Amino acid sequence: MNKHTILKNIYGYDSFRTGQEELIDSALSGRDVLGIMPTGAGKSICFQVPALSFSGITIVISPLISLMKDQVMALVDVGVRAAYINSSLTEGQTRKVMENARLGVYKIIYVAPERLLTDSFLSLVGALEISMIAIDEAHCISQWGQDFRPSYLKVTDFIDMLPVRPVIAAYTATATKVVKEDIVCMLGLQNPTVVVTGYDRKNLYFSLKKPQSKMNALLDYLKENGDKSGIIYCNTRKAVEEVQGELFRRGYPVTRYHAGLSDAERKENQEAFINDSTPVMVATNAFGMGIDKSNVRYVIHYNMPKDIESYYQEAGRAGRDGETAECILYYSGQDVRINEFLIDKQMERENEELDNEEKELISERDRERLRKMTYYCFTNECLRDYILRYFGEYGSSSCGNCENCLTEYEDVDITSDAASIIGLVHTSGHRYGMNSILDAVHGTDNAKVR
Ligand code: ADP
Ligand code: ZN
Repeated sequence: MNKHTILKNIYGYDSFRTGQEELIDSALSGRDVLGIMPTGAGKSICFQVPALSFSGITIVISPLISLMKDQVMALVDVGVRAAYINSSLTEGQTRKVMENARLGVYKIIYVAPERLLTDSFLSLVGALEISMIAIDEAHCISQWGQDFRPSYLKVTDFIDMLPVRPVIAAYTATATKVVKEDIVCMLGLQNPTVVVTGYDRKNLYFSLKKPQSKMNALLDYLKENGDKSGIIYCNTRKAVEEVQGELFRRGYPVTRYHAGLSDAERKENQEAFINDSTPVMVATNAFGMGIDKSNVRYVIHYNMPKDIESYYQEAGRAGRDGETAECILYYSGQDVRINEFLIDKQMERENEELDNEEKELISERDRERLRKMTYYCFTNECLRDYILRYFGEYGSSSCGNCENCLTEYEDVDITSDAASIIGLVHTSGHRYGMNSILDAVHGTDNAKVR
């Protein structure tokens, strides 16, 4: 079957989307590829179509067990012979998959990176004709990226061990310039075809709020928009419980999702959201990977996320159908501190494979990304432009469809006020809180100031 027949017969689509064909053609001609395309752009087809045309098998490396399973089920549904190997399978199941693979049953197998260098997997691939290795979420290999996974370093060793080098195809939704270069270098891509489809999503309206009470702001918003489908992201499980609880009490059709719930409840809640029986989802960032719901009309971040990568990926779940949708972020200073805490904690927990110096380096990069996320909450410039520039693209500098573009700011010189406040904080020995300092600046006559 040629690529168009595969697209039509297997997936039921008439034409390729931007970027897809170039990547597919390149892989088919035996050349390495790197595809950087936003979530929802259709990366899977870029490696699945060539996989179905090649004579040998394609190995897809993916970090997310749930995504692997979804993709394999979707393939099997349309009649493609595919399977996955990861820690969710029993030993018996794994053995069965390996046996089938050896017999040439599959065109595509998905594998978790941890498995690559195991004896059993290496002995399997030694007996197979491997046409392509596709690396999904390829940014995970870069220590400059927001999702570095040491297990991804095994990919390089794995490729080096193969008797014949297959086509290497790397895909990711988010990569800054450094991460992109790092992917090419770490994976040893040879003269790859690089396709970057634009990050801009013109139908998304960006807005930033610093409400006194986030809950009141949310309730006001839902008064107008409570009948639409939306996602409210919080950065802790506790916050999810509180927000979801409050909205539920007020009668909104709301459900929840976070890693502390049972598998069964998560599955049930996710389905209720997708089929619109409860169209409002309150969740941590554990929610959303692989979710393809087109009519999400707003994504509200009740807390500031840890970096622009996460923010844009999560906010980007709004308006997949191309219709107008809103992305609103509620900022408070507390969010910065919680993120700092999470960065520190993550360093302690993960990455046993890294030494202290490497850990420190990664944590410094996390903090730098957090700073850039925080600046987003304070810029008066076009919000869309800020994000696009972060990913190395240049926007219009005034998109006309974000809160900052629609707000008239007035420049006021506050140098002398700022100088008096800073001076006072300094001369009073950093001993007083905000209210005492303000009282003193205003010359309030009270006992403490005196
Ligand atoms: P990504 O991995 O880039 O986030 P997916 O591969 O999950 O995106 O694709 C997102 C959605 O777009 C899927 O529902 C997929 O079937 C659909 N899709 C992909 N390519 C096309 C196409 N050429 N025409 C129509 N729909 C497509
Ligand atoms: Zn703008």
